[in-house]
Amino acid sequence: MSSDIGLIGLAVMGENLVLNMESKGFTCSVYNRTTAKVDEFVNGRGKGKKFVGCHSMEDLVKSLKTPRIVMLMVKAGDVVDHFINQLVPLLSQGDIIIDGGNSLYTDSDRRVKDLDKKGINFIGTGVSGGEEGALHGPSIMPGGNPKAWEAVKPILQAIAAKVEGGQPCCDWVGDGGAGHYVKMVHNGIEYGDMQLISEAYFILKNYIGLSNSEIQQVFLEWNKGDLDSYLIEISADIFGKKEENGQYVVDNILDSAGQKGTGKWTAINALDLGVPVTLIGEAVFARCLSSLKDQRVSAAKILPGPVASEAHNNFKGDKKQFIEYIRQALFASKLVSYAQGFTMMKAAAKEYSWNLNYGNIALLWRGGCIIRSTFLGKIKDAYERDPNLDNLLTDKWFTEKIGACEVGWRQVTAASILNGIPSPAFTTALSYFDGYRCPMLPANLIQAQRDYFGAHTYEKLNGKRGEFFHTNWTGRG
Ligand code: NAP
Repeated sequence: MSSDIGLIGLAVMGENLVLNMESKGFTCSVYNRTTAKVDEFVNGRGKGKKFVGCHSMEDLVKSLKTPRIVMLMVKAGDVVDHFINQLVPLLSQGDIIIDGGNSLYTDSDRRVKDLDKKGINFIGTGVSGGEEGALHGPSIMPGGNPKAWEAVKPILQAIAAKVEGGQPCCDWVGDGGAGHYVKMVHNGIEYGDMQLISEAYFILKNYIGLSNSEIQQVFLEWNKGDLDSYLIEISADIFGKKEENGQYVVDNILDSAGQKGTGKWTAINALDLGVPVTLIGEAVFARCLSSLKDQRVSAAKILPGPVASEAHNNFKGDKKQFIEYIRQALFASKLVSYAQGFTMMKAAAKEYSWNLNYGNIALLWRGGCIIRSTFLGKIKDAYERDPNLDNLLTDKWFTEKIGACEVGWRQVTAASILNGIPSPAFTTALSYFDGYRCPMLPANLIQAQRDYFGAHTYEKLNGKRGEFFHTNWTGRG
C-alpha cells in the first residue's frame, strides 16, 4: 500500500500533525534525521495506526503515491534547504514539497521559484496552534505554487480546525511566500495580543490591587464578551494555577520574555514597507526591555518616578468602573493592532503582487490558532462590506466599538502614565488612533527642518501635490 503523504521531522509539531492526518484516514510515511525517533514513534504513539516508518529519504519517497507529497516539519532556515536538496534528486516532475515550519516568507518565495524550474511544486504554509492545534486541528495558511494546491487541499483541509458550519481554517492564501507572510503577521499580532493582555494584568494587579484569583474572575468575565479568545481563556487558567506549596505559579516566573523571531520579522517588514504597525513593534521591544532584568533591578534603585507596585495606594475610584475601563483599553488597543496588521498585509499584497483575500485570512485565524477569537468574524464582515477598505478602524462596526471604548482607554493610559505603570502597547495604540484621526499633524515642522538643514524641499498645504518648494531659511546666499 502506498502512503498519501510523507512527513519529515518527528518533533512536537510533526508527530502531532501526522497523528491528526492518520485520524482523518490518510496513510502517512514518516522520517526523521535521528532515525531512532522513527521507531520510537511508530512503536509508541503511532502503534497500530497506518504509519510507514522510514529510515532513509529514499525509502520515504518510494513509499508514496504519485504525485508524491512530502511535508517538512523541521527547524526553519538552512535545515529546510538541506532536506529540499536531498529530496529533489529522489522526486519526479509534478511532485510536491510542503514546508510547514515557521520559515521566512522570502525563503519560501525563493524555494517556490527554484523548485518550479526543476518541475517540483513547492508550498510554504503557516501552521499555527502549537502541539494541541497540530493534533486536533490547526489553522493552516498555505501559499506557494498554485499547481500544488488541488493535490494537497483534501489533506490540509481535513486536518485543519473547523469553525461554524464545518468550514476549515485552511484555504489558499496566495503565490510565492504569501502563506508564510500571513503566518508571520499572525505571529506578530499574537505578540501584540499577549503584550496587551499582560498590560491589562499589570494594571489590574498594581493599580486596582486585585489578587490573582480576582484577576482570574475578571478574565473569565471578559471571555464572555467582545474579548472572547483563546489567549484570554488560557490567561484565566494561568491565574488559577498553584504550586504544591500553595504559591501561584505565575508569581514565581521570571519576568523576562523570550522570542523566536517572527514578531521581529513582522516589525522589520513593517518598517521596510513604511506601514505604521506600532503595536507589534512595541510588543517586540517590550520583550527586549523585559529581558534586561538585571539592568532594570539596578535602575529601579536610581531612577526617579512613581513606583508601579505601589500604585494601588493611589487608587481612589470605583473598582468595578475602572476594571471596565481596563477592558475597554484592552479591546480598543486590540482593534488598533488588528487594523494595523491588516493594513500591513494590504501594503504587502501591493508590493509583492499577491491577491490576498483579507476576509478569508481572518477566517483562517478564527479557529485552531493562538489568536483565535470570535472577533475575527467581525473582520470578515468588514471586508465583505468593503473589500478595498483602507483601514479596519473606518468600518462602521470598528468605529462604533472603538468609540464606545475611547473614554475608558484614555482613563487607563493616563492613570498608568501618572502612576509609573509601563503600558507601551496601550499607549502606542492610543497615539496611533489619535494620529490616524488627526487631519493636521506637526509633520509640517519636520519638513521645514529637513528643508532648513538639507534643502530637502516641501509641498505646500494648499498647493498642488508633487510641486516642491525650497525656502532660504537663513537669508544667506
Ligand atoms: P523544532 O524543534 O523546530 O525542529 C526539530 C526537528 O528538526 C527535528 O525533526 C530535528 O531532527 C530536525 N532538525 C533540527 N536540526 C536539524 C539539522 N541540522 N538537520 C536535520 N534535521 C534537523 O520542531 P517543532 O517545534 O516541532 O517545530 C517544527 C517547525 O514548526 C519549526 O519551523 C517551528 O518553528 C514550527 N512551529 C512550531 C510550533 C510549536 O509550537 N512548536 C508552532 C508552529 C510552528 P532531530 O530529531 O534529528 O534533531
